[in-house]
Amino acid sequence: MPDVIKLLPESVANQIAAGEVIQRPASAVKELLENAIDAGATEIKLIIRDSGRALIQVADNGCGMSGTDARLAFERHATSKIREAGDLFAIRTLGFRGEALASIAAVAQVQIKTRKHEEELGTMIEIEGASFKNQSPCSCPAGTSIAIKNLFFNVPARRNFLKSNTAEFRHIVEEFQRVALVYHDVGFWLHNNDKPMFALRPSSLKQRIVALMGNHFANRLIPVSETVPEAEISGFIGKPEFAKKTRGEQFFFVNKRFIRNPYLHHAIDGAYKELIPHEAHPYYFIYLSVDPNTIDINIHPTKTEVNFQHNQLIYTVVRSAVKKALGKFSVAPSLDFDAEQGINITAPPPGYIPKEPRIKVDPDYNPFSQPSGAMPDQARKPVDKNWQKLYKTDVSAQSSMLLRTNQDEPEKDSGETARPAAENNQMMQVNGRFIITRVRSGLMIIDQHHAHQRIIYDRLLEKFSASRPGSQQNMFPQTVSFSPANADILREIYPDLQLLGFVIEPLAINTFVVNGMPADMDNEDPGELLEKIIDNYKKNLVDLKSDRKTNLALSMARQLAIRPGKTLSNDEMLAIVNELFASKVPEVAPDGSPTLKIITLDEISKIFKNKD
Ligand code: ADP
Ligand code: MG
Repeated sequence: MPDVIKLLPESVANQIAAGEVIQRPASAVKELLENAIDAGATEIKLIIRDSGRALIQVADNGCGMSGTDARLAFERHATSKIREAGDLFAIRTLGFRGEALASIAAVAQVQIKTRKHEEELGTMIEIEGASFKNQSPCSCPAGTSIAIKNLFFNVPARRNFLKSNTAEFRHIVEEFQRVALVYHDVGFWLHNNDKPMFALRPSSLKQRIVALMGNHFANRLIPVSETVPEAEISGFIGKPEFAKKTRGEQFFFVNKRFIRNPYLHHAIDGAYKELIPHEAHPYYFIYLSVDPNTIDINIHPTKTEVNFQHNQLIYTVVRSAVKKALGKFSVAPSLDFDAEQGINITAPPPGYIPKEPRIKVDPDYNPFSQPSGAMPDQARKPVDKNWQKLYKTDVSAQSSMLLRTNQDEPEKDSGETARPAAENNQMMQVNGRFIITRVRSGLMIIDQHHAHQRIIYDRLLEKFSASRPGSQQNMFPQTVSFSPANADILREIYPDLQLLGFVIEPLAINTFVVNGMPADMDNEDPGELLEKIIDNYKKNLVDLKSDRKTNLALSMARQLAIRPGKTLSNDEMLAIVNELFASKVPEVAPDGSPTLKIITLDEISKIFKNKD
């Protein structure tokens, strides 16, 4: 077999993004793991001592190198992966610059043992601070093992600059995860100070994620998949309810390479808007693959940034893929019977007479004032129109190709599956808490309190955006007093309360007169209602750090939504269901709690499957 490594001509070398490749132990780990992958390894062991200061060793069972290649590999711009400038735009390997081994050898003591599978003897080479020490034949396993000792031994400034052992080790684990998350069909081991930390067998992507991130991830992942001519997206995103306040596991890969890209991060984050509280971060493992000719990876020395030729298009595809996945998940969730045994389904008692509708929120949309079965137009129309919006990309007509994608099965299938069958007006209330109704795909269970919160919240936000005072009911002036702290908050939120229809005037320092209330809240006690709104508002300030209007809408929605335990008539339930499905995000309450679950016919059949 001929040698494969060549020195790049100067003209090509000059086009390579210059910069420091090895900044810390983790950078060396990344380069070595990538070399092992490029060598076609199916098993890779990483051994670390003293957070990489004392030892970083990577052993692989990849193709190995000839003696000549092993020697040449440590020269700057020596690579087997590209030959000419044009190759920079068709990169299919992780490395391509021929710089990593040279950069590592310049700042450490390196020993390499390597053997090609077809050869009997391998080669051992020792290099220290870029000067060649020793080369000899050796017997060693097929593949390559590189040990890097005393990193930065000759660059004290750099060595002193390293962070604590914990921090440096964390960086190493991050790099390890980033490679292991892509090459799930490769076995990886990580030993730290002689203790095994990871032993990852080849597995499916989902199993790999769980093996790296912990068992609790198993039930928190939603699959993502989208293909358009320009790009293919796959992977998993986190269920909205598990989004965390601290930025957690967010992994974005382009052509099997971990990439930082705030623009595309924004696309993903944006798809979760309204599904998770402000300040919460979704986690994701998203794999984008595009034609290597349409990206430039040669822009940053550590190869963690990329320029896309179709930047905006990729943004749209990523966003719509995530939205679609969230939409599919929300309309076809699988109900875990073990976890939710508490639901006790009983039919309404014989002779049950539905009560007159009582819920009062907003006269503009209070559906209960209508005669039975007849929904106000305004409430009914958006049901068809808005429910499917969840699947629609917000960047319209940017690419007709995209529209095609977005109109494929989820819009038809999921939309129709989830919406209660048109002829089906039969609702059932269970436990004074859940509404159960038939949908095409099975049974839908709605949490009345959460669902009503979503309805009220949407309406309030709509009122805010109308930016003129909402309808109000003048009333006999009533004096209300608050603690100094609550009085301060009332003054702060007053402009927004006014938009909703409250008319309040200051009387004394902590006392106010309420002259008017939103028309739909006129049967509430003004003092009590305001006190509760203020308390909720304070709590949200701490928990959610959301803006004032959102916070207020959330506080009021919580306060005014019908409570569990309230008996509802069929019409009331029907109205809630219809109103809920007029929302853009019917499946979650504004605080992120789920509003509905569907048990599919498949799942029901499974429960009653014959054992024989
Ligand atoms: P690059 O990966 O950019 O080509 P490196 O300096 O990382 O540059 O490696 C130089 C060359 O050494 C590679 O092109 C490859 O041919 C060879 N090489 C490095 N590591 C390995 C390995 N683990 N197994 C086989 N060959 C390797
Ligand atoms: Mg390399």
